[in-house]
Amino acid sequence: MTFRWPLSVQRKNFGRNLGLRPSVAYTPADEQEILHILDRHRGQRIRAVGRLHSWSEAVLGDDVLLDLRRLKDVQLQPDGDQFVATVGAGCQIKRLLKELNRDDATLHSLGLITKQTIAGAISTGTHGSGRHSMSHYVVGVRLARYDATSGQAIIEELSAGEPLQAARCSLGSLGIILSVKIRCRAQYNVQEHFTESGRLSDVLDAEASFPLQQFYLIPWRWSYFCQHRREDDRPRSRLARLYRLYSLGVIDYGLHLQIIFMERVVRNRRFIRLNFRRIISAFLIRNWKVTDRSSSMLVMKHEAFRHIEIELFVPRNQLVDALEFTQEVIKVAGGMESTLSADNQRRIEGLGMQEDLAGLHDQYCHHYPICVRRVLPDDTLISMTSGAEQDCYALSFITYARPARRAGFSLFASFMARSMSRLFHARPHWGKVCPLEANELTSLYPKFDAFRTVCGTLDPQGVFQNDWTTSLLEADRPAGDMP
Ligand SMILES: Cc1cc2nc3c(=O)[nH]c(=O)nc-3n(C[C@H](O)[C@H](O)[C@H](O)COP(=O)(O)OP(=O)(O)OC[C@H]3O[C@@H](n4cnc5c(N)ncnc54)[C@H](O)[C@@H]3O)c2cc1C
Repeated sequence: MTFRWPLSVQRKNFGRNLGLRPSVAYTPADEQEILHILDRHRGQRIRAVGRLHSWSEAVLGDDVLLDLRRLKDVQLQPDGDQFVATVGAGCQIKRLLKELNRDDATLHSLGLITKQTIAGAISTGTHGSGRHSMSHYVVGVRLARYDATSGQAIIEELSAGEPLQAARCSLGSLGIILSVKIRCRAQYNVQEHFTESGRLSDVLDAEASFPLQQFYLIPWRWSYFCQHRREDDRPRSRLARLYRLYSLGVIDYGLHLQIIFMERVVRNRRFIRLNFRRIISAFLIRNWKVTDRSSSMLVMKHEAFRHIEIELFVPRNQLVDALEFTQEVIKVAGGMESTLSADNQRRIEGLGMQEDLAGLHDQYCHHYPICVRRVLPDDTLISMTSGAEQDCYALSFITYARPARRAGFSLFASFMARSMSRLFHARPHWGKVCPLEANELTSLYPKFDAFRTVCGTLDPQGVFQNDWTTSLLEADRPAGDMP
């Protein structure tokens, strides 16, 4: 039996920056119900959502909305020395990990949290560090859509060629994903320890020994906290449970509550800067080496406190310049400097963005470590590392300001996306704040035209689009090359 949401209730996304009020919404129990719903609403716009953990307009739908949380079966099959899991679209990653773990298997790639559904996670290119995004490992997508000739709702398996590459990261634009086949691997352990370094080159050199590492540029202290990580054949450390308690209590809650207190209660820039310069580092235990199961080590409780984020992907050869630029813009936005260095000032003048920079001056005090994660090139049409010839680094900018006080962050995010996309080929994460115009976004993806063609073939009437994805599909700038 299908549940309908009470339509008087507006559903909001995690970040509370978007609200959905569809004309009708369903929580179908199985594939047959989904086909009936599609037939009943032929000609209307239809969109599926996962757990609304995206901050971008990818989730918006104002007509018929489907929530597939009841399609959550997991089946695991061996595939050579690996596995392939067939996962119901609405299955959350945390449930999937639990099911896989029963067979001593796990996912190749994980984001920082496990609340997302599998369909939602792949649809925006969710990623972690040191691997491809989750989309890359998808080998099949089962899709409900309309047959172009009969107009009837049908089910189709996409398992090869450009349709599969499109379905691996599709922004909900091909149809309703019913299930996903994803390559999995044997469960493994990860060893982790923290260090602090003043030099980016040292951090990057460490990648050879710690391929899964991620690091944080600490604003106002301007050093790097590096979370060195690598696969480890040794068993779980004796102190792994204590380390989990430390991570949860001290980092996920203690550190975050302290940042939130500074940003929402104290609201004094001098204290915020002092906090990052002197106090934040006290939360870090350096060189404590611990080995634990990958699915525990690679995630955190990042969803514990409401926040909003933009994440920009730059190719490796742009990383050093991009981080220097970031540091200078944060100082201008925070009112500590009024201009950038001569080189960066020239770059901004070359883009004609001097007034935008002047408008950002003293408008926003950045108050969260900038997480930097390495993501390998994906075999997709439009995920953020698709078509890249080198590894990319995702730079994330997060604010814990209350929803009503995010104007400064919006200005900052928009400036960073517009300037960095043009200076460093930076691509914004499709599921996070995405302030570029449609033609600016699509021009960053050499294969966007191929994506358009697949959308046009599978959904010629555009019924699975929302206003945002329609504007992307209709944008007319030619796509540029990714270095
Ligand atoms: C606290 C937090 C931490 C995060 N950490 C990371 C991280 O470490 N790495 C990272 O890359 N991202 C991260 N994200 C972003 C998140 O992984 C993505 O935005 C993801 O898409 C959210 O999944 P969801 O299930 O909530 O889907 P939603 O946000 O609800 O939907 C996302 C997209 O998927 C489409 N979709 C969902 N279900 C279907 C379906 N059945 N059929 C067709 N289309 C569908 C929707 O239409 C929409 O376009 C984080 C987000 C939060 C809030």
